[in-house]
Amino acid sequence: MNKTSRIYIAGHTGLVGSALLRRLEDDGYSNLIVRKHSETDLTRQSEVEAFLKAERPEYVFLAAAKVGGIWANNAYPAEFIYSNLAVQTNIIHASYVFNVKKLLFLGSSCIYPKHCLQPMKEEYLLSGYLEPTNEPYAIAKIAGIKMCESYNRQYGTHFISVIPTNLYGPNDNFDLETSHVLPAMIRKFYEAKAAGRKEVEVWGTGKPRREFLHVDDLSDACVYLMNNYDGNEVINIGVGEDLTIRELSELIYSIVEFEGKLRFDTSKPDGTPVKRLDVSKLNSIGWKATISLERGIEETYRWYLKNSVF
Ligand code: GDP
Repeated sequence: MNKTSRIYIAGHTGLVGSALLRRLEDDGYSNLIVRKHSETDLTRQSEVEAFLKAERPEYVFLAAAKVGGIWANNAYPAEFIYSNLAVQTNIIHASYVFNVKKLLFLGSSCIYPKHCLQPMKEEYLLSGYLEPTNEPYAIAKIAGIKMCESYNRQYGTHFISVIPTNLYGPNDNFDLETSHVLPAMIRKFYEAKAAGRKEVEVWGTGKPRREFLHVDDLSDACVYLMNNYDGNEVINIGVGEDLTIRELSELIYSIVEFEGKLRFDTSKPDGTPVKRLDVSKLNSIGWKATISLERGIEETYRWYLKNSVF
């Protein structure tokens, strides 16, 4: 990409898209294209085609997706599979039709098998059964990756796919039902502290292990790969280190300075026991994460205090 390239960021209001927009603006890219949902419904093929035909982006970051935590994935499986399949199919196909030079598609670490060898290498994809709580979402994301690979093979396009680990940062979803664990804990601990409550409920056993990547690190990696990687193999994006949900809760507990007790509600699902990405491929291409979990959570907590609308 050069600074005047026409770059479309699909999903620019979400966690990932907003981080990409911030990053590209800061880097001086001057031809950034975004569209509000009210202007273009990405689940409608005709709207997506008309939009790309008119705007002719050269580069596309496909960060538009319906995402959510363990509860939302379980509660709305139809919406998760439908929206993601529709949006990605429309954008990937239209990008081929209108000669986009390069597209970057974002998968998710939940597309690896539930009982995957750890750390998870890119070649372990499709080597076992998926975690049932997010299988519809995972199937859609796997289809997106395979679509990019197939278009590259048959049409000679340059559509790359990445697999980010669990993400967090500014503009995350802090809704307690639909969010992921990290923003949910920030909000729960903060509200309990503000209300002087003595106890906070944490879902599951606290034993599952998760890896967390700050979204500014992710956007840095995506821009890096857009400029430096052109292979047909997926690339994991993570930090390569994980911690238990209990350890995460203790870290957030101390950052928020909540002083009550944690109660683990084992009637809530644990999900996949462990999902840690092998990031050796990404490291060998020349990229490494730099934001520590502690610093990232402190920053996200400050953002939450400033921007929370609850
Ligand atoms: P997952 O990585 O796809 O399983 O999605 P989540 O981020 O929603 O959940 C990660 C883990 O954190 C699961 O084991 C959850 O049960 C656990 N967890 C603990 N407390 C919470 C909470 O308040 N919200 C969410 N979403 N997960 C929680």
